[in-house]
Amino acid sequence: MRIACVGGGPAGLYFSILAKLQRPQDEVHVHERLPAEADDGWGVTYWADFLDVLRGCDIDTAEAIARGSASWSQGVAHIRGERTAHQGDREFGIGRRHLLDLLTARAEALGVRVHHDREITDPSRLPDADLVVAADGAGSQIRGAHAADYGTRIDEGRNPFLWLGTDKVLDSFTFAFHPTEGGGWLWCYGYPYGSDRSTVVVECTPQAWTDLSFDSLGRRETLDLLARLFAEPLDGHALLSRAEDTDDAGWRTFRTVSNRSWHRVSPVPTVLLGDAAHTTHYSIGAGTKLALEDAIGLAAALREHADLPTALQRYGAGRRQALLRSQSAARYSARWFEELPRYMRLPPQRLFALLGQRHSPLLPLLPPALGYHLHHGIESLPALRAARRWAGPRLAARLHAQGDRGSDTVAR
Ligand SMILES: Cc1cc2nc3c(=O)[nH]c(=O)nc-3n(C[C@H](O)[C@H](O)[C@H](O)COP(=O)(O)OP(=O)(O)OC[C@H]3O[C@@H](n4cnc5c(N)ncnc54)[C@H](O)[C@@H]3O)c2cc1C
Repeated sequence: MRIACVGGGPAGLYFSILAKLQRPQDEVHVHERLPAEADDGWGVTYWADFLDVLRGCDIDTAEAIARGSASWSQGVAHIRGERTAHQGDREFGIGRRHLLDLLTARAEALGVRVHHDREITDPSRLPDADLVVAADGAGSQIRGAHAADYGTRIDEGRNPFLWLGTDKVLDSFTFAFHPTEGGGWLWCYGYPYGSDRSTVVVECTPQAWTDLSFDSLGRRETLDLLARLFAEPLDGHALLSRAEDTDDAGWRTFRTVSNRSWHRVSPVPTVLLGDAAHTTHYSIGAGTKLALEDAIGLAAALREHADLPTALQRYGAGRRQALLRSQSAARYSARWFEELPRYMRLPPQRLFALLGQRHSPLLPLLPPALGYHLHHGIESLPALRAARRWAGPRLAARLHAQGDRGSDTVAR
């Protein structure tokens, strides 16, 4: 089989590795529009159990990811001049560029042909492929050319955000919140991903955007202002942006992408993978993990079903089901931040506790103080705590599925 992956992000590269591992005789190409050294993001997070999943698929890649990651197990919040800390599960961060480099090296070592500086917008430009894998990200042009067939839906988030870096090496997952004069809120969270860098995501309410006149500030002024406002968690370090050749600060809003169908069978069988198929709000830090899980799901479906349309259909159906919990968590997490002002009157300790519960569908329905007491009551009784951990995500997934528009039908 000849496979063409459009997009050399985490999804396309990891799928190419798994495809080549399971069928070395296949010809696998990855077409990436950016040059090999391009750096278009910062660090991304994942949890220890995900490393175990990766170890079960390709031990070499998993160990390279483990070696290249930073880790922490403490969460810290700076709220109204007070610092609150929490001990949590061990989490990891890895630089996007480093992740892409190690995936590319592994893919090439297995015989995958990775082509950089090669933009593909139309699968008919890949006439020799038996399967086109559209791993070209949230703004996928391969998908966009047939958006009606895929049943693409894009929901725009409300809060502006920036994905930045800093040379301050944070030792915890760190949140900081800053009120603005007109009643808006600006906040950031950051985590380390290497020996000399941390990621910092900055988000604000539309009111804070107006209060701080972000629409009239250039890139340098924006970074300097944010570094001043978050001087305490950043320890006086500067903020860094990738868009060095422009004066645009790079504010955008998050787009939640969903597709009713994840594949087409003609003229060339084409399947969506990673962010091209679905996005989940960055505040749950799972998009890369889910993109790699898509790759695992697609490789498994191709292994288990000799008939290509059946394999693609099973892959889409299986992944749609598996994603429900994460999509629910992402939806409520994004909403929690969009409704942040309603929680900011809580004392810092309580606010931090609810921040950890932001995936809950219950929180938007309860007054914040009651939400906290309910959470505290459940946490203080081990049986209730265990019941919530078991039932909560399942209930949320079920509720999300009811609102889901998906089907497993094949696009034309
Ligand atoms: C602010 C922010 C923070 C995030 N934090 C985390 C986190 O902590 N943890 C986490 O797991 N995830 C995080 N994510 C999400 C994560 O970055 C994405 O979910 C992940 O990169 C998806 O991988 P992908 O390979 O599907 O798509 P992408 O990473 O977008 O890769 C797509 C690739 O396709 C290329 N491409 C696009 N069009 C074409 C074309 N026409 N031809 C050829 N190539 C093309 C692009 O250049 C790109 O390299 C975050 C996202 C944001 C915005």
